[in-house]
Amino acid sequence: MAGEPQDDCLFCKIVAGTIPATIVRETDTTVAFRDINPQAPTHVLVIPKAHHRDAAALAAAAPELAADVLRETQAVADQEKLESYRTVFNTGSGAGQTVWHAHAHVLGGRGLEWPPG
Ligand code: AMP
Ligand code: ZN
Repeated sequence: MAGEPQDDCLFCKIVAGTIPATIVRETDTTVAFRDINPQAPTHVLVIPKAHHRDAAALAAAAPELAADVLRETQAVADQEKLESYRTVFNTGSGAGQTVWHAHAHVLGGRGLEWPPG
């Protein structure tokens, strides 16, 4: 069921604490932790604690929770002292999505080219 923890989901395991992560922020509904393979000096992932397969599914099923995730991207940027940053939701394997639990990448601390690759 949408929102329920999935046994085979890496990020559900991080939420449950059964896989370690470097957590930088946590709220009642979200967790933010450092990406294990950072693509910028600051690279933090913000996830909803509830399982939704991607950002669009999250927004459709739980718009308030999607807003919580977006709000937390700014909170991470503030905490990490980023004046500019990029929020990315890879959606679909062709766009590079590898973990099927919605997550926002917060990238900053270096120049960010536009358009992205
Ligand atoms: P995506 O490719 O958009 O699905 O993003 C998944 C991200 O999760 C990648 O940037 C990975 O480096 C990151 N990642 C995978 N495993 C872990 C982990 N155990 N802890 C933190 N980040 C992870
Ligand atoms: Zn999950």
